[in-house]
Amino acid sequence: MNTLFAANWKMHKTAAEARQTAAELVGLVSGKLKAGREVMILPSFTALAPVAEALRGAANFLLGAQNFYPQKQGAFTGEVSPGMLLEAGASFALAGHSERRHVLGETDALVGTKTAFGLESGLGVILCVGEKIDERRAGELKSVLERQIRAGVRDVPRDIAPERLVLAYEPVWAIGTGEVAGPREILEAHAFVRSMLAEIFGASASAMRILYGGSVKPDNASEIIALDNVDGVLVGGASLKADEFSRIVLA
Ligand code: PEP
Repeated sequence: MNTLFAANWKMHKTAAEARQTAAELVGLVSGKLKAGREVMILPSFTALAPVAEALRGAANFLLGAQNFYPQKQGAFTGEVSPGMLLEAGASFALAGHSERRHVLGETDALVGTKTAFGLESGLGVILCVGEKIDERRAGELKSVLERQIRAGVRDVPRDIAPERLVLAYEPVWAIGTGEVAGPREILEAHAFVRSMLAEIFGASASAMRILYGGSVKPDNASEIIALDNVDGVLVGGASLKADEFSRIVLA
């Protein structure tokens, strides 16, 4: 499986800025990417098409979207369907990012519906899970992860192609805070996610990627990527500048 370096640009960058950053990144990384690595950019909806253009022909670069609504079409003002994302050039999308769960109020049940619908529609899905600091302090790490994973993959066919379903462990207390989880914490959480996937999906779980996300930077990326059961990283703040993200991707 390819190690995945995913750049979540959140609600940053105009379409023109996104196109320029993507083009800069391709220039910095092309020809230098280690074998078995791939890079995904997840810009805002309005920047999908321009970023797709900037990535055209760039080997091992993928386009992803940050969100979608689990319906083909209809009276869902403000929402975007998986089909629209595929048409814009995206091949993956996030589901269950902590900002959607905890700022926008998405429930475990909705995240599960989105994950299954996105996959059924032809997108790959990066399902994000992670505990809040009070949950960690209360010893609830595993129960939170188990609840989010079981609900998240509730309706996903058990024979799904493993490369199409990616899990991202993102402790909420490490997202955008500068506070990165330590190796022991990452190892423990990723081993648990892998064991849950194995219980649910059987042997194919070993080919599902588990990303770590939460304050990944150029100076901690290589140590994190080297850990057992870490198959890539999901990066927010440090992915916004092409130079900084290129140092993570090339680490
Ligand atoms: C994220 O947005 O998924 C994320 C991990 O953000 P940051 O890298 O800024 O913590």
